[in-house]
Amino acid sequence: MGFFDDEAREIYDGKDIHELNDIFVKNEKIAEKLRKLVPKAHQKVINENKDHDGDEEEVAINKAGNIRFKTDIEDIKSFQQLSDVMKKSVQENKNVKAVGSFAAFSEVTETNGFLLQPVKNSYVAKTDLQLLNEETISQAKKDDIVYYDVKWGTKIFEILPVLKKDNRAFFNLGGWTGQDIVGINATSTHGSGITLPPLCSLIVSVSMVVPGDKIYKVEPTKGITDPSKFIQKFPNITLIQDDKTFNAAVVTIGSLGVTYEVTVWTIPLYNIIERREENTWTNVKSILKQKPYSTNPYLKFRNTEIWISPYTDYALITLRDLATNEDVKNYPKPEAKELFQEFIALPVVQEISKVLSINVGGALYLLLLLFPAIIPFVNEEALRSQYHKDPVVDSYELIYNPFGPGFVNDFKVISVEFSFSMKDDNHVLATEAILETLKELRHKHDLHIHGPASMRFSAASSQYLSMGNGSSDETRAYLEMIILVYDVWIDHYKRVFDSLTETALKYNARCHWGQYFSPKLDHKYLMNAYGAQNVHSFIEQIMKFDPNGIMSNSLLRKLGLTPDGKVTDFGIWETFGEKFKNGLNEFTKVLTNL
Ligand SMILES: Cc1cc2nc3c(=O)[nH]c(=O)nc-3n(C[C@H](O)[C@H](O)[C@H](O)COP(=O)(O)OP(=O)(O)OC[C@H]3O[C@@H](n4cnc5c(N)ncnc54)[C@H](O)[C@@H]3O)c2cc1C
Repeated sequence: MGFFDDEAREIYDGKDIHELNDIFVKNEKIAEKLRKLVPKAHQKVINENKDHDGDEEEVAINKAGNIRFKTDIEDIKSFQQLSDVMKKSVQENKNVKAVGSFAAFSEVTETNGFLLQPVKNSYVAKTDLQLLNEETISQAKKDDIVYYDVKWGTKIFEILPVLKKDNRAFFNLGGWTGQDIVGINATSTHGSGITLPPLCSLIVSVSMVVPGDKIYKVEPTKGITDPSKFIQKFPNITLIQDDKTFNAAVVTIGSLGVTYEVTVWTIPLYNIIERREENTWTNVKSILKQKPYSTNPYLKFRNTEIWISPYTDYALITLRDLATNEDVKNYPKPEAKELFQEFIALPVVQEISKVLSINVGGALYLLLLLFPAIIPFVNEEALRSQYHKDPVVDSYELIYNPFGPGFVNDFKVISVEFSFSMKDDNHVLATEAILETLKELRHKHDLHIHGPASMRFSAASSQYLSMGNGSSDETRAYLEMIILVYDVWIDHYKRVFDSLTETALKYNARCHWGQYFSPKLDHKYLMNAYGAQNVHSFIEQIMKFDPNGIMSNSLLRKLGLTPDGKVTDFGIWETFGEKFKNGLNEFTKVLTNL
């Protein structure tokens, strides 16, 4: 069943990666055997996946390398250039997509038309108060809120230092800061905290150019801008202050137009105190069910993250709150440690990386493929390495993001994430079922995830297609899982994530737009997950801003997120293509069976 089972077992038959490493270091004969086995294993993986499309003809490639498509890339250097492309898109009836950091693992960025990339310096500046209405100005003073305008092309890690210099901060952050301010919210990226909505709620005003070159500024009904002052200064921009429109304008999945600037709200800079607790999933799941959440031992904290060891019962809980001045004095700053840091430093991993000229994350992946018995230990140890007994305190962005934007480049992973309603403990039941599926995949197919199944939480968002969408008292739980990759065309991650998606859908999951998005997800999924009302309200806005479907792509057409709500599923043609590979007879058989 396993990968080079017999040869691998001759080298090591236990469950502990440190023991395997010791043998490798001390026993030259064994080390030699492993050095010979590793290139064979590498070659086998390549052969098993040799039908991948190849790189030569592909033009646009996302950060992880798993999304590739032919397109006309336009480097956008000025507003005039953006405006010209949007005019041309309608004249030539050519599709358009914009990207931010191009980090999404899903097909949300795909287009066969123009792909617009921002090429300019970042821009973050305090919003011009002259254009805001009186009520907003006085409320902002009372609540100590300061607004900033941020342009498309500005990454989160570029915004945070500017805010910090002014003693300002975002109310929450996700687990990475490499995303663009528009791209991060187009897919409803979130951090964690049951009272904190996803990050799209940072945005209070959206400026966008739609196909044909009309320009809009979209805000909630009680928006921040004073319409009369705005019209005087910008007569060519249409200001829309309407909740129905705004609720589609931030989490857009790139489908309304190209957003060139947003306004965000900020709060005074703050410190966070972080505690970590070790427990078992068996205990944690009963704690998670305790209501009300405002007194729940875990969920009452500002930020809660539950990391579950997928193949053992261990769980690591992160609990964060605003730090007091006393906390700052009493507790040390954290010592940032990467999840797999300890294993990556092992000579056996370093040597595989050298022998095959692949990154250390890839070397660890290959080792886990050869010695699957060590995976439960590796995953649990990785979690244990993050435990600290005493609380730590630091500025919020250093606690939430100790590695800033660095992670994705030197250590490739692909992730999937599901958002669950927490009603009737649905999220706990869903997590149980997913853990079962993970164990089944391990036992039957030797397929694994690496690291924890990581549970985070959010309050509701009013954006129609946010994974956190719901009425104001609803809360959501998210479960994310990662897989190491050294070559993205190795499709193990797809097989694991597709199976997990199947299980998650039984609990009415919403799949993260910007993480692995299974090809099985279609219009029926969309209607179940978000409800007909949200989907129709969103389509109304597509109809208004992009009646010709210029911003559409294959994924949106498959989901029915088009101006006329029509679904075009190319899946059946892909199925034909697959069969066709096996010869004309197969293809004829398929056709005659129709
Ligand atoms: C290392 C890593 C860590 C992550 N951590 C988290 C996390 O903690 N929490 C979480 O929820 N998610 C997380 N994600 C997911 C990530 O936040 C999303 O995939 C996000 O959308 C990526 O942002 P981006 O700027 O790269 O967007 P892109 O990939 O460039 O684009 C995403 C979408 O935005 C649209 N878009 C971009 N710019 C514009 C524009 N100007 N106008 C209109 N549409 C536009 C694109 O067309 C596309 O549909 C993580 C991803 C990675 C790679």
